[in-house]
Amino acid sequence: PAVPDFSPALTNEKGIAQATALFHEAFGADPDGVWYAPGRVNIIGEHTDYNGGLALPIALPHRAFLALRRRDDRTVRLISPQTREAVDVLDLDAIGPKGTPGEVPHWAAYIAGVAWALERDGLGPLPGFDAALVSCVPLGAGLSSSAALECATSVALDEIAGLALAGPADAPADAGRARLVTSCVRAENEMAGAPTGGMDQSASLRCRAGHALELDCRDGEAVHVPFDLAAEGLALLVIDTRAKHSLADGQYGARRSACERAAEILGVEFLADIAPERLEEALATLRERGGEEAELLVARARHVVTEIARTVELVSLLSDGSPLAGEKLARVGELMDASHESLRVDYEVTCPELDVAVEAARAAGAHGARMTGGGFGGSAIALVDAGRVDDVARAVVAAYAREGFTPPAFLDAVPSAPAGRATA
Ligand code: ADP
Ligand code: MG
Repeated sequence: PAVPDFSPALTNEKGIAQATALFHEAFGADPDGVWYAPGRVNIIGEHTDYNGGLALPIALPHRAFLALRRRDDRTVRLISPQTREAVDVLDLDAIGPKGTPGEVPHWAAYIAGVAWALERDGLGPLPGFDAALVSCVPLGAGLSSSAALECATSVALDEIAGLALAGPADAPADAGRARLVTSCVRAENEMAGAPTGGMDQSASLRCRAGHALELDCRDGEAVHVPFDLAAEGLALLVIDTRAKHSLADGQYGARRSACERAAEILGVEFLADIAPERLEEALATLRERGGEEAELLVARARHVVTEIARTVELVSLLSDGSPLAGEKLARVGELMDASHESLRVDYEVTCPELDVAVEAARAAGAHGARMTGGGFGGSAIALVDAGRVDDVARAVVAAYAREGFTPPAFLDAVPSAPAGRATA
């Protein structure tokens, strides 16, 4: 049987060395420093962000490293190994949002876009800069490689321009980081043209090692919830399905607008305003007034309200101070499984690759497993005993082979530190 393909995280030492070497080669000088930002994975609370609900992401050990040097003019030069030949040269006075003449091509939008957004948000003027990117966050796997680029750029610019918002990685300044989140989201929405919420950037800038981030997506309030998996003898296995179904983009918008229509019928701002004990009543109202799409709205609303309740319960379990074992661990697993079922049946955003991954992981002894991220491909997670990671991964590889799917990739998702300056 095929051996599971694990994507290791780059260590700080290697990240610094590789980004610095690339910088040297491209620009013939030393960078001022190397900054990094992690990708993220969401434990529970899916498709709740745009409904004013809760999410619970962790920062991955997989990071984007950005070697960067301040310039005396307004020029930005960028290089990434994926675009080895092309050093993108941009002018901070000429760039602008996607769809305008100043539109920034491809991945450069996630980096130069942050400088543009910070200036728009009143934190400029900023100097130009040269930057070399080396990232080990898998691209397009639902693990937020895009937010990693933005957030690494934001902490680098924070330091070289003396904004002093982020604070050091070992003593992060949360309020200042929440401001950086706003500009990173703006870069993603307006410069890259991706209509995402703030969960990814909040996770990358505001998480803590050994913790998950309980994020209230309505107001950006965040609480750090203990989630020290290694200390509990557990691991979180990320299964990158390597599948991407072309429906994804339109379906995301369709889910969002169904939730908006349901909220409107119910007379609330967000579906998060429906308390779980009022759910049946709310569903009856949707059945009565939802017209032809009544059953669809019922299913979508039921996912959102029950998913927020599951997130609240999981957070309270993790916060009670007792070991994550026994009945408590079993209940955490049940909540993850129930989240997947709700996303599969009521929200209809899973796909065969995601369903097979979670079924195989559970059958091989995972305490719980679910899809994570938007769905229609991307990644799933499985909570497993630390000593069983390889067995569970092998079981998923075997199930994929039986189904004739492309072999998946795996990551060990140790809850890790937020963005900052990389020190070896
Ligand atoms: P995700 O954030 O889930 O990985 P996205 O589609 O939001 O998926 O972001 C992926 C995009 O981010 C890529 O298409 C590319 O433009 C950019 N990107 C991410 N990492 C890199 C990298 N190391 N080098 C160049 N571009 C990157
Ligand atoms: Mg992204």
